[in-house]
Amino acid sequence: MGLTCADELVRAGHDVTVCDPSPGAGATYAAAGMLAPAGEAWFGEELLLRLGQESLARWPSFASSLSERSNIDVDLRAGGALLVAGDRDDLEEVHRACRLLDDSGVRFEELGRRELRVREPRLSSRTVGGAFLPDDKQVNPRRVVDALLAVLGDRVVRQRAVVRKDGVALEDGTRLRADVVVLATGATGLPRVRPVRGEIVRVRTTDAPACVLRARLHGERVYVVPRRDGEVVIGATEEEHSTNDVAPIPTVGGVARLLETARALLPGLETAQILEITARDRPGSPDNGPLIGDVPSDGPARHLLAGGHYRGGVLLAPVTAAAICAYVAGRETPPFVDAFAPDRFNALNRDEDSCT
Ligand SMILES: Cc1cc2nc3c(=O)[nH]c(=O)nc-3n(C[C@H](O)[C@H](O)[C@H](O)COP(=O)(O)OP(=O)(O)OC[C@H]3O[C@@H](n4cnc5c(N)ncnc54)[C@H](O)[C@@H]3O)c2cc1C
Repeated sequence: MGLTCADELVRAGHDVTVCDPSPGAGATYAAAGMLAPAGEAWFGEELLLRLGQESLARWPSFASSLSERSNIDVDLRAGGALLVAGDRDDLEEVHRACRLLDDSGVRFEELGRRELRVREPRLSSRTVGGAFLPDDKQVNPRRVVDALLAVLGDRVVRQRAVVRKDGVALEDGTRLRADVVVLATGATGLPRVRPVRGEIVRVRTTDAPACVLRARLHGERVYVVPRRDGEVVIGATEEEHSTNDVAPIPTVGGVARLLETARALLPGLETAQILEITARDRPGSPDNGPLIGDVPSDGPARHLLAGGHYRGGVLLAPVTAAAICAYVAGRETPPFVDAFAPDRFNALNRDEDSCT
């Protein structure tokens, strides 16, 4: 989030420094890269769906500009996603999701058991139906980070920062004065943001599905995201944690459940090679929506928050960066952004507004 905002601000002519001891190593490192406003849509989150669609529409031009400027292909792919159900209860949830998409004017195609397996013959014969979401996309977040680091160059200072009244202080004692500090520290150090742990597995197979699969099998959720060269991303667990908990580590229980469900969905994964198991904390917020905009500052530097993007930070990066840039310039923000201002949680205690 910080890198994308920095890129947008640099392109708008601002003098920008990114302070991060390990850029791209947080939640973004784990992310599957689904750009899936339709796949993630749920009741009560209709504005988040709209914000996601707004950001999805910005991805093609963002990706091509970034790839052109960095010479790194970020692997943006269309191709849609399949919702897959393992039994009648799971299918009922697919039907409910489709009703919500219908009410919101989002394209989808409901599929019976046979139609589903015609679209993806690698699916287990035990799947009972689903839906096709033609507009969801995917990107490789690690390539996006590499591309952003390449274009930002020495504007990125690899040090932890602490917010000060007039800017930030770095670990080595350097003080950087700033008119605006954009706070984008992921799951830690932001008001209202809490860590929601996710474990994810990367495998290689000769039997990868043709498009993203998002399945519920007897209540267990799993998604499978095919990438280049037979790499497939299998995710992801979700577990609430306190900010003081140990750093995220993959657990036997979480990974076993993921792999079992993925193998039940796609029997061909039986012989896949395990490449990597990763755990990271998503930046969760009280209503699952991001926090984008001003937060109180007790000094001359203005504080803007770009955080709490929870399960959709990759999707929401372009619209968030455009919004931060608009706030800095005093321009109108992109559609639906205002609904995600941090002060929407005003009823909560003032102490929680401070940033570390
Ligand atoms: C398993 C998993 C799968 C996911 N899949 C998807 C997906 O398919 N699609 C999608 O859209 N989203 C997905 N997400 C969510 C997405 O990854 C996050 O919403 C997004 O990466 C958040 O970006 P961020 O920059 O806010 O946080 P992070 O990526 O965590 O980055 C925060 C950065 O802040 C730095 N930092 C922290 N404290 C300081 C400090 N004091 N000073 C300086 N720097 C600091 C850290 O070093 C880190 O680099 C997934 C997340 C997980 C965990």
